[in-house]
Amino acid sequence: ERTINRIAAGEVVERPASAVKELVENSVDAGATRIDVVLKDGGRGLIQVSDDGCGMDADEISLAVERHATSKLKDEDLVNIASLGFRGEALASIGAVARLAVVSRPKGADEGWAVRVEAGHKHGVEPAAHSGGTRIEVRDLFYATPARLKFMKTARTEYAQAGDVLKRLAMAHPNIAFTLSDGDRTTFRAPPVGDLAGDARLERLAAILGREFHDNAIEIDAEREGLRLTGFAGLPTYSRGNAQHQYLFVNGRPVKDRLLVGAVRGAYQDYLARDRHPVLALFLDVPSEFVDVNVHPAKAEVRFKDAGLVRGLIVSALRHALMGAGH
Ligand code: ADP
Ligand code: MG
Repeated sequence: ERTINRIAAGEVVERPASAVKELVENSVDAGATRIDVVLKDGGRGLIQVSDDGCGMDADEISLAVERHATSKLKDEDLVNIASLGFRGEALASIGAVARLAVVSRPKGADEGWAVRVEAGHKHGVEPAAHSGGTRIEVRDLFYATPARLKFMKTARTEYAQAGDVLKRLAMAHPNIAFTLSDGDRTTFRAPPVGDLAGDARLERLAAILGREFHDNAIEIDAEREGLRLTGFAGLPTYSRGNAQHQYLFVNGRPVKDRLLVGAVRGAYQDYLARDRHPVLALFLDVPSEFVDVNVHPAKAEVRFKDAGLVRGLIVSALRHALMGAGH
């Protein structure tokens, strides 16, 4: 049983960045207004995620670390999105390959609770002092699966990957404050900017992509047959030598999708040389039935029912905005 659990766990948690993604998404789902992440030794030594969300009582905290345990409804909008993660698998999977400690206190409760799991061995739930919300600590990631350890890159690379994951989540949730620290120093800070209105979103993007993006981006807002594309796209004069600064979201979830990247390239091809790439953050919202379910959840890919429609929307929305900006 345990061996099988560990193999399955390796699919959910491939590296510190994937653990950070699962833990932070849980904090988002818990209604947190601030989420603080600490990574030591690139996450191999410690991944700590603290939030001020709804918290868990003794029963909930005990269940949370079990396999297939989820308190969340199978909201089709979410289930259909590939990057959601594995339902009810994240905490159990992390507990199978690391030392996991969860401390939590529900809003309004006068005591907190803690549970620990080490390489799949669960220790009983105990009362614990905690100010409210949830703090999750993952120590010695993959100590129980030495083969996995071999795939870890340098601490600096793992830290950067996790930071990238956190930045994408911060773009999708401008109303939540985020920090990332290496234990000594806060290396990323995204203060809250309020609601999802255009300006708030641009402020959050500027906090991540820089003031220059703020001054060189045009707003995108287009709709076609129930699909909506919003966000901000950089002017051709503000291009980069690589395509790493293209942030794409489907129904609020960060995705890395070839179709979307291709559509962006198509839209800018008359404006940019082949080796230049725009900086942008685009948010595509589609009805749940428009996305295929059978995509591996650890891969941030999506499969659309009508790829041509998505491509058409992106290309025309970007071209229209670029022409409007005098390009
Ligand atoms: P899932 O998110 O798919 O439900 P997880 O293994 O990620 O599965 O989490 C299991 C459960 O633990 C969640 O459904 C939720 O009830 C609880 N949980 C996890 N993290 C938090 C958190 N930060 N705050 C409150 N509850 C949490
Ligand atoms: Mg989860």
